Amino acid sequence: MSWQAAPSRYDTMPYPHCGRSGLRLPAVSLGLWHNFGGEGADLARQREIVRTAFDHGVTCFDLANNYGPPPGSAERNFGRLFDLYLRPYRDELVVCTKAGYTMWPGPYGDWGSRKYLVASLDQSLKRMGLDYVDVFYHHRPDPSTPLEETMAALDWIVRSGRALYAGISNYNGEQTRRAAAELRRLGTPCVVNQSRYSMLVRGVEDDLLPVLEQEGIGGVAFSPLAQGLLTDRYLGGALPADSRAAGGVGFLRPEHVTDERLDVARRLDAIAREGGQSLAQLALRWVKRQPAVTSVLIGASKPRQVLDAVRAVQMPALGGDELAAIEEILLA
Ligand code: NDP
Repeated sequence: MSWQAAPSRYDTMPYPHCGRSGLRLPAVSLGLWHNFGGEGADLARQREIVRTAFDHGVTCFDLANNYGPPPGSAERNFGRLFDLYLRPYRDELVVCTKAGYTMWPGPYGDWGSRKYLVASLDQSLKRMGLDYVDVFYHHRPDPSTPLEETMAALDWIVRSGRALYAGISNYNGEQTRRAAAELRRLGTPCVVNQSRYSMLVRGVEDDLLPVLEQEGIGGVAFSPLAQGLLTDRYLGGALPADSRAAGGVGFLRPEHVTDERLDVARRLDAIAREGGQSLAQLALRWVKRQPAVTSVLIGASKPRQVLDAVRAVQMPALGGDELAAIEEILLA
């Protein structure tokens, strides 16, 4: 018999509006940057992570053309999983992809030209076996292409039916303001900005988040667990063999797991334990406290990590005492 998603999948997940748009996102989204690459990969583990997510109301899956390795393989693997299990649920899903980083050789496989964005999205749709994505993001600002051209490409992509909504990623406050104005002028609103935000990386707080609130754009916070540094993964001191830092393929290297960061993580973990939660849950609740953050975009190497996040967004907002204790550690 074909797989059936859990009937209870919408019972507990909050779905806030993405900014002032009609699109509602799950408070937790799942990203496929890591753990979903590989050509001819064994899909069993990927399948369990994706099905666990959807079974618990995680309707938003985040990809990009270059996710792998090799680039493109995460979209291909997602396409296989989609075909096997999720196709009957297409209208219950928000599938996102992006273009903006190096994808193919030559002058047309990178950055932000209309030439690159349209061709890349067509390739992404083929790899995933989809007629359209829900959100198409420009992945990073391009200093050498006029913003007007990049935004016109997003507008055209939406009007052509290849994407339902337009988004931007890694745009700072000022860049976001300009992109939003241009998209508004064209008649396709910028509904979402995806940026890095965690207890360890707080640059968006003064710069981007106020702009998102003013412009009515939803914020999606990526790497909210600092790629695993804000979890119990490394607290023991050694690098677990199956961890991202030990894996050697991503951006989290063994040398990033410093004594200083571990010390911060251990002190935060003590607060988490006092409150009867995991460090990952505390870190996600902390990111989610920002009104401009619509969804925390996690990665997961195991289904239980997804469950940890799903439970975190069901917990009440962090109290003033907890927030003050956290701030003291982060500012020390
Ligand atoms: P996280 O900060 O959530 O890190 C994920 C890693 O943390 C997991 O792989 C796992 O590490 C560990 N982890 C997660 N949950 C738990 C838990 N409950 N307990 C213990 N460990 C846990 O996010 P990512 O860095 O993976 O980024 C998430 C997504 O954001 C990406 O997949 C991508 O979609 C998006 N992104 C977007 C970018 C952009 O430029 N727009 C850039 C980067 C990411 P381990 O594997 O060691 O088990």
